[in-house]
Amino acid sequence: MVSARLRSLVRCPECHGTMAAVADDARALACDNCRRRYLHAGEFLDLRPEVPFSEQTRYLDEALHADARHERVSPPLLGSRIRNDMLRAFLGPRADDIVADLGCGSGRALLWNSDWNATTVGVDIAPFFSADARRSVDLLLADLRKLPFADGTFTKAYSLDVLEHLSPESLREMLAEASRVLKPGGRLFVYTHVRKNARIAIGLRWVNALAHALERAGLIDLRQERLRKSDHINPLRDIPELEAVADAAGFRVARIRYYTPILGGLVENVLMRVAERAMARRASGRLRAAGKSEEEAELTAVRDARRAAKSRIASSRGTYLTLLALSYAMKLDLLLFGRVRSGPFFALLEKKWEEMPKVP
Ligand SMILES: [Zn+2]
Repeated sequence: MVSARLRSLVRCPECHGTMAAVADDARALACDNCRRRYLHAGEFLDLRPEVPFSEQTRYLDEALHADARHERVSPPLLGSRIRNDMLRAFLGPRADDIVADLGCGSGRALLWNSDWNATTVGVDIAPFFSADARRSVDLLLADLRKLPFADGTFTKAYSLDVLEHLSPESLREMLAEASRVLKPGGRLFVYTHVRKNARIAIGLRWVNALAHALERAGLIDLRQERLRKSDHINPLRDIPELEAVADAAGFRVARIRYYTPILGGLVENVLMRVAERAMARRASGRLRAAGKSEEEAELTAVRDARRAAKSRIASSRGTYLTLLALSYAMKLDLLLFGRVRSGPFFALLEKKWEEMPKVP
């Protein structure tokens, strides 16, 4: 949605001028300063830069969204539950906070955390927003390297599964922008990973080897997963590099917790994939029986299976509670390995206060 609050918060991405409605065009907003016009699509604002950055994420690629996972938002379960619980624990916004979701995707984290009662804004480069998010949360299209907000607009921000999609240069630009739009002392929660893993990550390799063996046996299908991961650039080498990059953008790392999902990998990459494959097979069988070609059936089956899984979670208390129990079991990874410096991590970056000017 586009609330009056959102319209008052946004600025021109090019010159940071204030924006106002246009008399002769209900579907536009214009900058009071440079007069550039932007699209007000009703469900979201389009405040992307006039000239797109030459470097763009493959997240824009339609193929990455072929499984339609963005269309409908399920409650946070499994890995999503862990990420969202960490977000809530680390960031904990209150009603007077103004919070930006930088790279909001479907907008699901905004929906899951509506109980914060904070002012929230979802920002993404592509409009793969869910129907629920379009209806009930403030959304806008923008480039994270050129945010359409004035300096110090937000008290808090978060960015989940985003940093790994950026090149080292884009990451620096993105963090500098995040820092600019936060107030001093404002906080940015991130979930991402560095390339350097701990030795315990060998457990992850065993889980992955198991998943590949199961794929060779035809029991799981990792193609969509590989496609999604193909988008990962992984700009950060290790934690010292994270600290240096954060520092250069005006942040200090206030809190960090590592996440080596060994149990989580077993549940998500093996157990869930086997269930998903079985559901896709059944869906594919139904489609072929209904006269679709094998190819067509195969193509739509994965999407159908995912939809069916979401309906099942929504309608069956038993399924939901089972997945919730598995989510809690997966938290063992955090309890056991949370202090071991490893690849994936949750971090709270705090925008440094400016040096107080010395009074002579
Ligand atoms: Zn302008």
